[in-house]
Amino acid sequence: LTGFVGFANLPNQVHRKSVRKGFQFTTMVVGESGLGKSTLINTLFNTTLYPPKEPLPPSAERPQTVSIESISADIEENGVRLRLTVVDTPGFGDFVNNDESWKPIVENIEERFDSYLEQENRVNRQKIVDNRVHACLYFIQPTGHSLRPIDVEFMRQLHTRVNLIPIIAKADTLTDEEVADFKARILADIAYHNIHIFQAPTYENEDEEALAEAEEIAGKIPFAVVGSDKIVKTPDGREVRGRAYPWGVVEVDNEDHCDFVKLRQMLVRTYMEELREYTNDVLYENWRTEKLLSMGV
Ligand code: GDP
Ligand code: MG
Repeated sequence: LTGFVGFANLPNQVHRKSVRKGFQFTTMVVGESGLGKSTLINTLFNTTLYPPKEPLPPSAERPQTVSIESISADIEENGVRLRLTVVDTPGFGDFVNNDESWKPIVENIEERFDSYLEQENRVNRQKIVDNRVHACLYFIQPTGHSLRPIDVEFMRQLHTRVNLIPIIAKADTLTDEEVADFKARILADIAYHNIHIFQAPTYENEDEEALAEAEEIAGKIPFAVVGSDKIVKTPDGREVRGRAYPWGVVEVDNEDHCDFVKLRQMLVRTYMEELREYTNDVLYENWRTEKLLSMGV
């Protein structure tokens, strides 16, 4: 069951319809290198991602400062097709001078908007490929203190262009109490700096179960995650995805150990459609309006 992504089980009919046609979902990971981005992506989709057949967008060739890579995989579950793309930004934070290291990332997001706009303007709009970034996982170093200035800067540059989902990386390096304190401080910082993170919408006519799920997910943000694509044996003999320590095993899929399950639930089950909608209706629309205004149209 752990390998099951869950997008084929999207709850309502609207989801089912768009899902049956097959659809595209793009997640971007941002954060210092070494924080476990690649590991988490593998954990999240429990699949090996292959390089795309098409050439990478121009920004992928950018040298040094921040090199951006995009990998895609076609996943099928219960007859439902999902083209999943992950945009990795491996370099940031490794350079002595990090001023404006967010720029290539924002440019990459906007180039994807550009490509979508160009397709919308074509005569034949039958086969629009949606390569826009629908969610951005922002990896926060597990310092246990508060957001660093570079985190604030990055998030402020990104939040008008992408659904930001903050996560605490390598949460197994913090105690439960440290995680709780850190989460509170991160949320306070985010509020103080007016950073807009993705808000899970709630609908009035939703049933109790759905409301409870929405509240539970919202209550976990920023998700404290542990990634691992290895199977380890627990002291009581179970085989689980996790990280083994002399004092025990941290289980990726155990909700008492970390928020990985909740993060996956939010991304690929509960809010995939909302993330796509908000990207299209708000983030892309705002960008488009700004662009047209700046062109004097
Ligand atoms: P990236 O540079 O952000 O893509 O990081 P990687 O996924 O390559 O991981 C860097 C190192 O951190 C590797 O040795 C991973 O095994 C380790 N790592 C990844 N996720 C975790 C985690 O959740 N907890 C701990 N303790 N280590 C992790
Ligand atoms: Mg990596």
